[in-house]
Amino acid sequence: MENKVKVLLIEDEKNICGFISKALEAQNYQVRTAYTGKDGLSQATSLCPDILLLDLGLPDIDGLEIITKIRAWSAMPIIVLSARTREDEKVKALDLGADDYITKPFGTSELLARIRTALRHSPLIQSRKTEPVYQAKDLKIDFLRRLVTRKGQEIHLTQNEYKILSLLAANSGKVITYDTIMSHVWGPYTDGNNRILRVNMANIRRKLETNPAAPEYIFTEVGIGYRMLEDESAW
Ligand code: CA
Repeated sequence: MENKVKVLLIEDEKNICGFISKALEAQNYQVRTAYTGKDGLSQATSLCPDILLLDLGLPDIDGLEIITKIRAWSAMPIIVLSARTREDEKVKALDLGADDYITKPFGTSELLARIRTALRHSPLIQSRKTEPVYQAKDLKIDFLRRLVTRKGQEIHLTQNEYKILSLLAANSGKVITYDTIMSHVWGPYTDGNNRILRVNMANIRRKLETNPAAPEYIFTEVGIGYRMLEDESAW
């Protein structure tokens, strides 16, 4: 029997469900859909999907509550489908444990790319990656030796700059929120001010990017956090 990746889609708009199911089934995914939060939660526990696609605006239960409930027992990747333009909703979803978000309307290829990234980082699916290395374009990070090179030339970073870069690289392709980075580097008791992070990021970009104003490696998700160019060495 074929071992298909199981996707659970919780979304109350039936036409969006239809469009996503069709696109995913064409790529050999097995898709189940739920139109309500209640049905979604029950299918999540019975099906144990490999990945969850979750609409935040459901008729019965708030999508954020669903994230909290699922994170209480599962590390399955969760991608939020958000029609909401409010950035604080996205930040909340990420901080509650969602892996990524995609804003409606989105294209099929973007959704498929996000799903592949989320699955790659999933602790549930064994990665074939053996070398603890990040590589994309001319940039290479050797996590064991803490060595960062571009076009073979070593890039000298401060300790905090390296901490930020390696966090983003280890989670490449995913948005990491300002708060997550702040507490990773400066501890959980930092105030909500991102200035120190922005200063460090400016320095990292100056060292890393050919043109810091048009970055190739670290992208700003305005109001939310940073996303690093996806690791090409992953599998
Ligand atoms: Ca909805």
